[in-house]
Amino acid sequence: MTDPRGTELYRGKAKTVYTTDAADVLLMHYRNDTSAFDGEKKAALVRKGLVNNHINAFVMSRLQQAGVPTHFLRLAGPQDSLVRRLDMVPVECVVRNVTAGSVCRRLGVAEGLPLDPALFEFFLKNDALHDPMVNDDHVLAFGWATAAEMARMRELSFKVNGVLKGLFAAAGITLVDYKLEFGRLDGELLLGDEFTPDGCRLWDASSGERLDKDRFRRDLGGVVEAYEEVARRIGVDLPAGE
Ligand code: ADP
Ligand code: UDP
Repeated sequence: MTDPRGTELYRGKAKTVYTTDAADVLLMHYRNDTSAFDGEKKAALVRKGLVNNHINAFVMSRLQQAGVPTHFLRLAGPQDSLVRRLDMVPVECVVRNVTAGSVCRRLGVAEGLPLDPALFEFFLKNDALHDPMVNDDHVLAFGWATAAEMARMRELSFKVNGVLKGLFAAAGITLVDYKLEFGRLDGELLLGDEFTPDGCRLWDASSGERLDKDRFRRDLGGVVEAYEEVARRIGVDLPAGE
């Protein structure tokens, strides 16, 4: 395969985005870098990029098959994937099936409470401001998305929930919460960015063991081993290598 990688467009905390020969296609390189607390805590974890690239490809393909439009095109190397270039909406969509993380800190509720119906929240994507939670009126007032786009992001986020709760449950894993990012292409919204254990909470359904980035946030160790366990259980083929 010829290297489709062009010039570097953006270096984020975990991925580097490159142009390709096609103006509407980007290459996402999943680095081993891991960060938490808006980039304050950092580490490089061997094999994390490869594992996340393959988990994301598997999940995005499942979502696409289930009728969720996504930016994902194909794997392009151990740590690389090709995606459609989107005009990203600058808000993150979080869906919660069980209480954990910031909703507990914000509202003083216990961790581990089931949420039915699932809770949907918007956060402004801004590390310097620590990604504050925002409501529909903020999103509208500051022009981050239209009312129709917000309705579509909510609809697609819940559709993702329907697909992934079942996929993980079948693997003995509880999908606690997750973050999605959407972007615009030809007047449509597509799911962008990634779905990996870096951006969701996954608990072993019987033991409650954390199989996600909380292992890194809380210094529990075995971060990539847990991600590999997730991959193995949901049926992702992982190549050897770093
Ligand atoms: P961060 O920017 O939060 O540090 P990453 O390291 O994951 O995150 O960088 C990936 C960047 O690429 C993010 O800013 C994300 O919004 C952006 N992005 C994701 N998918 C696309 C896409 N299809 N087109 C353009 N940009 C995208
Ligand atoms: N999340 C993310 N990127 C962010 C913020 C949150 O991927 O910038 C994910 C996080 O991993 C979790 C979910 O979104 O799975 C909800 O995060 P929460 O609001 O609880 O924040 P946290 O406690 O992780 O700071």
